[in-house]
Amino acid sequence: MNCDFLVIGAGVAGLRAAIELAKAGSVLVIAKDSLQESSSEYAQGGIAVALSDDDEVALHEQDTLYAGDGLCDRQAVHTLVEEGPAAIQDLIDWGAEFDRDGLKLSFTREGAHSRNRILHAHGDSTGREIARTLYKKASSLSNVKFESYSAITDLFVVNGRTVGAIAFDGSTLRPVFARAVLLATGGLGRVFKETTNPDVATGDGVAMAWRAGARISNIEFVQFHPTALHVEGAPRFLLSEALRGEGAVLRNNADEAFMERYHELKDLAPRDVVSRSIVAEMERTGSPHVWLDLTSRDAGFIQGRFPRIYETCLAYGVDISKVAAPVHPAAHYAMGGVWTDLEGRASIPGLYAAGEVACTGVHGANRLASNSLLEGVVFGARAGRSMATEEGVSFTGNQGWSRILVPRCSERELRELTWEQCGISRTRAGMQAALEKLQEWSAEAAGGRPTLTGIELRNLCEVATLIAQCGLWREESRGAHYRTDFPEKREEFRRASLAQLNVAAA
Ligand SMILES: Cc1cc2nc3c(=O)[nH]c(=O)nc-3n(C[C@H](O)[C@H](O)[C@H](O)COP(=O)(O)OP(=O)(O)OC[C@H]3O[C@@H](n4cnc5c(N)ncnc54)[C@H](O)[C@@H]3O)c2cc1C
Repeated sequence: MNCDFLVIGAGVAGLRAAIELAKAGSVLVIAKDSLQESSSEYAQGGIAVALSDDDEVALHEQDTLYAGDGLCDRQAVHTLVEEGPAAIQDLIDWGAEFDRDGLKLSFTREGAHSRNRILHAHGDSTGREIARTLYKKASSLSNVKFESYSAITDLFVVNGRTVGAIAFDGSTLRPVFARAVLLATGGLGRVFKETTNPDVATGDGVAMAWRAGARISNIEFVQFHPTALHVEGAPRFLLSEALRGEGAVLRNNADEAFMERYHELKDLAPRDVVSRSIVAEMERTGSPHVWLDLTSRDAGFIQGRFPRIYETCLAYGVDISKVAAPVHPAAHYAMGGVWTDLEGRASIPGLYAAGEVACTGVHGANRLASNSLLEGVVFGARAGRSMATEEGVSFTGNQGWSRILVPRCSERELRELTWEQCGISRTRAGMQAALEKLQEWSAEAAGGRPTLTGIELRNLCEVATLIAQCGLWREESRGAHYRTDFPEKREEFRRASLAQLNVAAA
């Protein structure tokens, strides 16, 4: 074996698992870009945890269940909120510096939270601080090795057991054998034209688990963040919900604060409601964006509380202390993914998943803001502890691997199709059309020398196909999945979707 445990991904989930695994054997953490390039690195607003004086674990649980719109796994939610405070204490013990008011931790509020329970670090660099802390801890352990700029293309499954994976270093493919494998590959935002996610978020973990025959659950649920900066030629930089938590107001082109017409919680309504309201206002006023206005707060407060957001917007010519920022919704977070139990086990022996790639059931049909970093650390640790008990099988054979067939389309075409037909509002006709196009591109797939672009395009196409298939199956509107042809929730769909190779969505 090349290592006892293979961890695919160096975001918060992979790093947290690696720390547990190091107690049981050698760990190889592989990342397809630099070790810092992950969604974790860009997470701004914070991490939710019931630790403030007026908060209770039961209230955090209740808010998470409410946001999940009837589809959360209650046990998973209970585990998340119950183990959250200890997970935060571990981070603090390892050196994480969360912002404080004097000596006390400082908590802010985000949409759909009933209490101030969002911890943040350096104002708006929470994910970076958590990832920094976990990397420092993991890299201090002699059992943990890192490999960057190496993409895993496929899992190795022999006699129904995961025995390793195939790594691509930009020129060659090589097998990596291990006792157990953890998918911690993060999200899939790059499937959509507009996304807040970094380029590494191509749904690789979901696609390779799917090809290996693992169960994929609730993949149709994609959260669209309402407020990504919309400046011509600039990336869709996220303007955190914490801005609205601190008083920012959404306005349309006529300068109206429109959210009060859509939801009683106004600007802090659930994200899917805000995203759809923005689209409705854009259509009504014929504008390509709406405005996020924080000018009611003084410049000193904004620069101190949101230094990264302030500086980034300024770099794109928008001084948010003086003017409202143009914003537009963008794909942000995948609630579904590789199905796992509470210990992070996927449906194939030897395979585990944690973090955004996994579907533990904690988010149900919609994620409560800032619960994902918490999920990464709580379930990353659980998966690590559980994997550590795996004996594995000795497999050293030179298993061949099939050629990588790349769909016949450009990434731009695929992302536009998915955004238009499987985005914020969906219909049967739209998703059916998307599916036909995706299947046509896959049917014309061609092989050749492997490239990272080709590997990612294959994954993007498979993930888009799964979203369209499961979205078609779910003939209702629930959480982040909104169908104009089925605008209501339907009792018969109050269950998770499950998709598996050669098994229809059910
Ligand atoms: C802009 C932004 C802001 C956010 N803000 C918040 C917030 O305030 N609070 C919150 O709770 N959540 C937030 N989120 C969500 C949260 O950041 C993510 O859900 C979480 O960080 C995911 O962690 P992860 O470890 O699962 O994956 P990631 O941190 O995305 O890490 C994925 C890793 O997998 C690697 N990888 C991917 N594919 C392969 C492959 N084929 N081979 C090898 N390696 C691979 C990548 O290189 C990377 O190292 C935000 C997300 C974004 C994009």
